[in-house]
Amino acid sequence: MVGAGVAGLSAAWRLRAELGAQARITVCDAASVLGGKVRTVELAGRRFDVGAEAVLARRPEAVELMREAGLADQVVHPTLASGSVRALGRTAALPKGTMMGIPASAESVAGVLSADGVRAVEEERHAPPLTLPPHDVSLGALLRERFGDEVVERLVDPLLGGVYAGGADGLGLRATVPAVAAAVDAGATSLTEAVAATLPAKPSSAPVFATLRDGLGGLVDRLATGSAAELRLGQPVRELHRRPGGGWRVRLGA
Ligand SMILES: Cc1cc2nc3c(=O)[nH]c(=O)nc-3n(C[C@H](O)[C@H](O)[C@H](O)COP(=O)(O)OP(=O)(O)OC[C@H]3O[C@@H](n4cnc5c(N)ncnc54)[C@H](O)[C@@H]3O)c2cc1C
Repeated sequence: MVGAGVAGLSAAWRLRAELGAQARITVCDAASVLGGKVRTVELAGRRFDVGAEAVLARRPEAVELMREAGLADQVVHPTLASGSVRALGRTAALPKGTMMGIPASAESVAGVLSADGVRAVEEERHAPPLTLPPHDVSLGALLRERFGDEVVERLVDPLLGGVYAGGADGLGLRATVPAVAAAVDAGATSLTEAVAATLPAKPSSAPVFATLRDGLGGLVDRLATGSAAELRLGQPVRELHRRPGGGWRVRLGA
């Protein structure tokens, strides 16, 4: 495995389960510590995640991996507090009926946008029918064209920024809200219609996030130990060559 981030270590863990105790599994990483973007540090006697700090609990993969790794009793749901948005001089709950801040209807954003902004959302479904090219398009440019600037500035940018460390103008619709793009590809002719098609009929009350009581680093450690892989840290992989008879030759360099 090249890379001892959570992807490489999960692959090592899975390979051990598939291939059994006899297999020789090696994980190389340029860094001197395991985990890549997942790292838990100790500060004043407490453990803190300094990279990723939670996984989506509404998708099964990560929580199942935690359970499989024997960490079920450590799984916690970080907070039930919901997000809020400061707009029009007041702080309001993050509007329901939106997907990453993109509204399904004008009503959903009435407490957050100006009267003009709400009207623009209302009229979006009467704008020329939306079709998307197969490649990705700037989410910000599309939203500004369909709704004006307020949806981007008050809702989408702050939400996207928290997840992707970037703004809507520089991020793609297909990359960041694939379900909305898929709804347009499937025939929705406006963004509001596409978002409405992706929202669940009955909002779930299940927690959105899950993490481990002592930090996500616990998963990394457990995957590394459980995979019984040979760990080569501080060893960047410089070259990969396909061998004529099958397999790969890996050149490590300092
Ligand atoms: C600050 C921050 C917060 C985040 N918060 C969340 C969150 O709360 N929830 C969430 O789901 N996601 C979050 N993410 C994203 C998540 O952390 C990453 O998607 C995930 O950890 C990536 O795992 P990975 O194994 O694919 O890659 P990485 O963790 O990047 O691991 C790749 C590893 O490969 C090594 N490597 C690279 N090139 C070489 C080479 N040539 N030779 C040897 N080794 C090499 C690197 O040193 C690294 O250790 C966050 C990311 C950041 C940066």
